[in-house]
Amino acid sequence: MMIATINPTTGETLQTFMALTATEIEHKLDLADSTFQNYRKSSFESRADKLLKVATILEDDAPEWARLMTLEMGKPFQSAIAEVNKCALVCRYYAEHGADFLKDRVVETDASYSYVTYQPLGVILAVMPWNFPFWQVFRFAAPTLMAGNVALLKHASNVPQCALAIATIFKGAGFAKGVFQSLLIESGQVEQVIRDDRVKAVTLTGSELAGQKVASVAGEVLKKSVLELGGSDPFIVLEDADLEEAATVAVEGRMRNNGQSCIASKRFIVVEAIAPKFEKLLLEKFQALKIGDPMAEDTDIGPLATPAILAELNHQVQKTIDMGARVVMGGKPLQGKGNFYPPTILTNIPEDSPAMTEEFFGPVALLFTVKDVQRAIALANNTSLGLGACVWTQNEKNIERCIRDIEAGSLFINDMVKSDVRLPFGGIKRSGYGRELSVEGIREFVNIKTIWQK
Ligand code: NAP
Repeated sequence: MMIATINPTTGETLQTFMALTATEIEHKLDLADSTFQNYRKSSFESRADKLLKVATILEDDAPEWARLMTLEMGKPFQSAIAEVNKCALVCRYYAEHGADFLKDRVVETDASYSYVTYQPLGVILAVMPWNFPFWQVFRFAAPTLMAGNVALLKHASNVPQCALAIATIFKGAGFAKGVFQSLLIESGQVEQVIRDDRVKAVTLTGSELAGQKVASVAGEVLKKSVLELGGSDPFIVLEDADLEEAATVAVEGRMRNNGQSCIASKRFIVVEAIAPKFEKLLLEKFQALKIGDPMAEDTDIGPLATPAILAELNHQVQKTIDMGARVVMGGKPLQGKGNFYPPTILTNIPEDSPAMTEEFFGPVALLFTVKDVQRAIALANNTSLGLGACVWTQNEKNIERCIRDIEAGSLFINDMVKSDVRLPFGGIKRSGYGRELSVEGIREFVNIKTIWQK
């Protein structure tokens, strides 16, 4: 994939970038490694001070960073502003709590003194996706730098200006240049970076295929990896749910980021007693959405990030329809410039159709009707993925049952799945492994070292 800024609203190529050469990569690896030797000795206070400065830079120039995101991948400008602010929040969160999360833990043993200490590992490579071009990076970088590691970012090829801007922000906050560097490289160049002895671990947020590739290389050279992969999150609505509220949240849950979110609600599993009413409400609310220029304030849905994503989504929808699904609304890309796909609802989903087995990365809601809670849970689990899930009910027994039986990294009750810096985030099954955010996130890339003194 060419490293370039291509405006998804117009299809215009605005800027292209050359991938780094082997010599340039070597230079950056060398800088990262030598910087780590000093940086690892820095105090938590000095790291926290710089992270707080990063937060200020993000907030002060939020429109500038937001504009870059909208330009490169098409998210509505207002959501891009919210994303910048969330990045500032994660920096402040780890600045405030990082030292506490990593403080030595004394353990009584037969030693005169024994404890656990958390030390940085070194250079950590992050392979990141375009869908939250700032958030995915900061969610990794804030804890990683707070722990005393240094970072290399291989960002998605369609958001190079975001990648460069993020490196500038860290440098502007006073971090030495080698603490956070962007590597403008193609995906085929990632393997050599993982294999390099100076790189100690890798994290990837993205597709299953990329996750498999990165994890297998990391496995071969026995390096730690964290994988945050796709999701096909169920949104279960039971008979006693507040339907109006559920349908309102369903729209946000499905449509945020133009439908391109790993934790978007993708499969709406509704019990039959209320299914017609829920479908009607969802249809009315989808029809009210405005699709158009992502820079415009009143736009709800902008273009998909690339023509390839549009083509893939279209293929999945068409195949599902050809196999017998009913189209409640939408179902075809919009004509004209840009990668626009309208809000779509499919129901009567056939067995073995893409809607049953694949992740739909765009503004398409898949509506399933089931008899009862037992079948709802079975269908929710009938996927190879296990990122998030939500359930709408007031019934305590059903809530307990969902907590016990739903196979996912998180379960939200009477709200949509969201990430919160204070809570761990990640998946099970083919959605990946490892956790980001909270205390668990900062302990992924550290040496949990045991000290025992006679
Ligand atoms: P992708 O194609 O896997 O790209 C993600 C990153 O991996 C990009 O930097 C990409 O580089 C790189 N990459 C791709 N193939 C690679 C390979 N063989 N070796 C090394 N690196 C490789 O993912 P995407 O389709 O753009 O992103 C959408 C997916 O990410 C969805 O499945 C979504 O659910 C998932 N996602 C998960 C989370 C989470 O937290 N769990 C969050 C956001 C998104 P290039 O751009 O150069 O190809």
